[in-house]
Amino acid sequence: MHRAPRIFPGRIVVFLLLAALCACSPQSKVPQLDAGAVDQEARLQYELAVRGATGHLEQLYRVAWNLRAMNTELCGDHVAASFGFTLFSLKSYKNAMQRAAVKDVLHAHDVPTVFLVGPGGPADVAGLARGDVVVSVDGQPVETRKRARELLSEALKAGRPAVLETRRDGATSSHTLTPFKICGYPVLMDPSAEINAHASGDAIYINKGIIKFVKNDDELAAIVGHEMAHNVRQHLRDQDFNAAVGHLLVDLPIRLLLGVNTYAGARVGAQMFSPEYEAEADYVGLYYAARAGYDIHNVADVWRRMSVEYPQIITLVTTHPSNSQRFVGLAADAAEIDRKRAEGLPLVPDLKGASEKKPAAAETDAAKTPPATKTDAKTPAKTPEVTVDSEADQQPEADL
Ligand SMILES: [Zn+2]
Repeated sequence: MHRAPRIFPGRIVVFLLLAALCACSPQSKVPQLDAGAVDQEARLQYELAVRGATGHLEQLYRVAWNLRAMNTELCGDHVAASFGFTLFSLKSYKNAMQRAAVKDVLHAHDVPTVFLVGPGGPADVAGLARGDVVVSVDGQPVETRKRARELLSEALKAGRPAVLETRRDGATSSHTLTPFKICGYPVLMDPSAEINAHASGDAIYINKGIIKFVKNDDELAAIVGHEMAHNVRQHLRDQDFNAAVGHLLVDLPIRLLLGVNTYAGARVGAQMFSPEYEAEADYVGLYYAARAGYDIHNVADVWRRMSVEYPQIITLVTTHPSNSQRFVGLAADAAEIDRKRAEGLPLVPDLKGASEKKPAAAETDAAKTPPATKTDAKTPAKTPEVTVDSEADQQPEADL
């Protein structure tokens, strides 16, 4: 059978395509890269990343420690014993360049190494510092962070002091750490860049985005305090209860009558009193910050700056109060705290039905739209980047 000649054989088509690609390649003659310089720069960037992450973790741990240690009596029965420090080990790092950078910046080793120390806490008082190698706990040698933590947790559970043998610059020394009672809500850094934070009921998650957004420890203290108040006041439990009631009273009858599954009742129930819960968390959280020694007078500025960043939510009232309501509410809360200080009254938040009432910032109507960017108690918990708590057994591996 006669076969018609092909106008463009396959090889020619490939050649034409490659030629077309070449025609689109960059035409400038850029300098050749020095592979050594690229490696050196990568190493420097790792170092800068480790320094940056360490700065955020240090700030969060410092603020969280102060808030937890100074508000123990307001945390009800949710109290934990702590030695006030975290351990670190180079074993978490597989990448050689990253490992070298972490080793240099943090003076870390493959063996358990002291990382973060809570100011004025047991480890600080006993003289522990970043980079100290923990050689033994209660006379038992420890070669891994896991083993060190197990022994420390045993001492904490038994409520007895722990004796740590540490090594610094080749010299060994012994330290006795006495357990200290703090609020039992671990404060963890979430690696998300979103300007947000949330409480899970048992723990507090502060996004890296909001740590970068705050201007000082005072502002961060108000944010950690806000989330701690959500947990202490059991807002999540209340909202779950309201959601269950909404489901029972609305969704189930609709399903029985119409055979339709709707979650509107549960959704509305969960959002009932949301602005009031947020205002209460601001109010109670500011007391926590004040009691921990932070300056509470300018922390409301966070909400002004938030509005500069996201002008579309300036007056938007959603499940949260508007930014303007939060600003004015926090100023009123600070004025109340000032007055109590001036009168020598105890710095404890007032409860409804007591002699004084909460300032009116909470009196708003709940809308249905979720907020774009606000501190939120209902966001599901994410995996934390690194724990900032030394008393929890089930901490994830440190990963800067
Ligand atoms: Zn909140």
